[in-house]
Amino acid sequence: MSKLQSPVLPGATLGVLGGGQLGRMFSHAATQMGYRVAVLDPAESGPAAEVSTHHIRSAYDDESGLLELAQLCDAVTTEFENVPAQSLRFLQQHVPVSPAPDAVEIAQSRIREKTFFVQHGIPTNHHCLVVQSADIADAFAQMSGKAVIKTTTLGYDGKGQQVCNSAQEMLKAFESFGAVECLVEDFVAFDAEVSVIIARDIHGNAEVFPVAENQHRNGILDVSIVPARVNDSITEGARKIAHQVADALDYVGVLAIEMFVVGDNLLVNEIAPRPHNSGHYTLDATNYSQFDLQVRMLCGLSPVPIELLKPVVMLNILGDLVLHEKFSWHTLMQDPHAHIHEYGKESARAGRKMAHVNFLGDDAGELLNRAEQFKQLFYPAS
Ligand code: AMP
Repeated sequence: MSKLQSPVLPGATLGVLGGGQLGRMFSHAATQMGYRVAVLDPAESGPAAEVSTHHIRSAYDDESGLLELAQLCDAVTTEFENVPAQSLRFLQQHVPVSPAPDAVEIAQSRIREKTFFVQHGIPTNHHCLVVQSADIADAFAQMSGKAVIKTTTLGYDGKGQQVCNSAQEMLKAFESFGAVECLVEDFVAFDAEVSVIIARDIHGNAEVFPVAENQHRNGILDVSIVPARVNDSITEGARKIAHQVADALDYVGVLAIEMFVVGDNLLVNEIAPRPHNSGHYTLDATNYSQFDLQVRMLCGLSPVPIELLKPVVMLNILGDLVLHEKFSWHTLMQDPHAHIHEYGKESARAGRKMAHVNFLGDDAGELLNRAEQFKQLFYPAS
């Protein structure tokens, strides 16, 4: 297995698996620091490829493409969790890879994730596995009257999951997902959703970004508010859980942990072995961004203490907005509080993440109003 012998320094080439917006923002951070970036992605072009030095157009499981990446790079990471763990293991024979394939593999499956939480005493909501239609009635009966069914793999942004109020409804959802293995969990009537991004190095030193409060719309992140409007004990608890998860995984890199706040308690919903949409506020509002830290962790450097410079509200701009007849970037470009990050995607479609805006100012409440007012031009009132 290839391991870092010494820190990888500017001038070296870093590899990233995946060519979406997270790869683009990684590439921006790395190139600013003086690294070259090679993107491996099957698409002809895309958000990351267009801002990177090299683009290897290859399937994620094609060994010749992976070998080319390994030969070109001094260290390799991934921008999304659905890269086959086998591909990461193959790469690891030739070039240092972080996060470790084992950690990525856990985050790829909702049931592996939940099992991991339970094994390590990390609080999570009640759940069970269903593999066939015959399991549904029993699974629903184990929950408290309202439950969520989620495909164990490949679900994202609300896809592959449904809230169910009866076993019949759940059976229908299970069949509509193609009767694939699913996780069933209690519906959580949460007070808030929060997330924490943690960066951990090869020696186990870790730094945590400020806790974000997240609001979703149709299962997709809509806004993140920082500082989160939760009490100190929740903030401290969320940070503690982030350390606990990263340590238990012996994680190297940037890791996101999403949690539900229920009264004074936190329940971990899921983790992502990479920078996360709810950490995009760090591009403008903290002294270092989650992508800066992704680069540093990949290169064997230590994490740096993180400071919040200003309150911030991050608003996701989905295809729904961009396709709206009244949409214009001009409105946002005129707002001195609005920092725009557009991903360079060729086409918009409903639900697709096209850009985000960080509204930066002195008062998070005022920034939230600003984001809400902008959204209301396009979305029906929620
Ligand atoms: P996930 O893909 O698991 O992150 O789910 C996307 C969003 O759906 C979450 O951020 C919540 O807003 C909602 N959600 C997921 N699971 C549950 C649950 N068990 N109870 C209530 N809401 C949920």
